[in-house]
Amino acid sequence: MNVYYSEAHALHNPAFEIFDGGERIASFEVPQRMERILVALRQDGRFEILPPEEFGLQPIRAVHDESYLHFLQNAYQEWLATPLDADYERNALLPATFPPAGWRGHIPKSILGRAGYYMMDLSAPIGAGTWQAALASAYCALSGAKFLAQANILSPAAFALCRPPGHHAGRAYCGGYCYINNAAVAAHWLTQFGKVALLDVDYHAGNGTQDIFYQRADVLTLSLHADPDYEYPYYSGYADEIGTGTGWGYHRNFPLSIGTDDESYLAVLQEALQMIRAYAPQFLVISAGMDVYGEDPLGKIRLSTGGIARLGEYIAALSLPTLIVMEGGYNTAALGQNIVSFLEAFHAR
Ligand SMILES: [Zn+2]
Repeated sequence: MNVYYSEAHALHNPAFEIFDGGERIASFEVPQRMERILVALRQDGRFEILPPEEFGLQPIRAVHDESYLHFLQNAYQEWLATPLDADYERNALLPATFPPAGWRGHIPKSILGRAGYYMMDLSAPIGAGTWQAALASAYCALSGAKFLAQANILSPAAFALCRPPGHHAGRAYCGGYCYINNAAVAAHWLTQFGKVALLDVDYHAGNGTQDIFYQRADVLTLSLHADPDYEYPYYSGYADEIGTGTGWGYHRNFPLSIGTDDESYLAVLQEALQMIRAYAPQFLVISAGMDVYGEDPLGKIRLSTGGIARLGEYIAALSLPTLIVMEGGYNTAALGQNIVSFLEAFHAR
């Protein structure tokens, strides 16, 4: 199986994140995640690891707001150029002020004001290499999409080993370790060839993907995740959010309770897969977060490695051209084995 991967991800290495309650902790979303996955892919021997092609900004602008992308690209340098009252090491930009709910006022000129405007939380710090890493990550997803579009085999599959992840990034905001929504960029790019279904199986609700496609019927978006009533991202991912306008009925959330195990997860998955069959898309994009694993430090769903393998099997049985896009997964020690298990069923096609 082709794997699209760029070492540029390592340029994004924030020293910390702010956790619930204001605790400043070492980031969970670290470059070592990719290293562990690469070791597992190479040990397996059936993966061909390829560098991504460059696609320019056009396919990214197609799903993200222009002024947001401008901010993302320039924020760190602008911040460095801004004199501050206190002197401290400027590793990564994080704001301390956010617009209040329902706010419809000015976008401030100040870089700190704009950081609050374009960030949904304190877990998407912008450092010196964040833009470059995020762009390369999106190119990995696009390269996988291009492979699917050009492959001369029945139901091809490719794996985009993306870092930073993408599914929390909305049209005009970053958050939750995500800056450019890699899966959404790839899914939109594929719509030039036909309808696309995007299934998000990361532990957390794919709020950014929901935001981007909420008014569209040409991309069916489905997300299985921890119920936002108890879990991040809290404000999106509820069962009654089903799209709007022409997109009405083309988004579906499947919130899951704490402790959901293999059997109960896979039962809900069947419902999502049935919707995909009924939609009959030309392509399938998977937001593959391995934080559904029972031993994940950020998760409260209890999938086993065997359950993750069955999750992959059930999806592969749709026999659609499938792009698997890496999202979360923070049990770094188990991450390689989990993603290899997930991908197992796709080799056979
Ligand atoms: Zn996640």
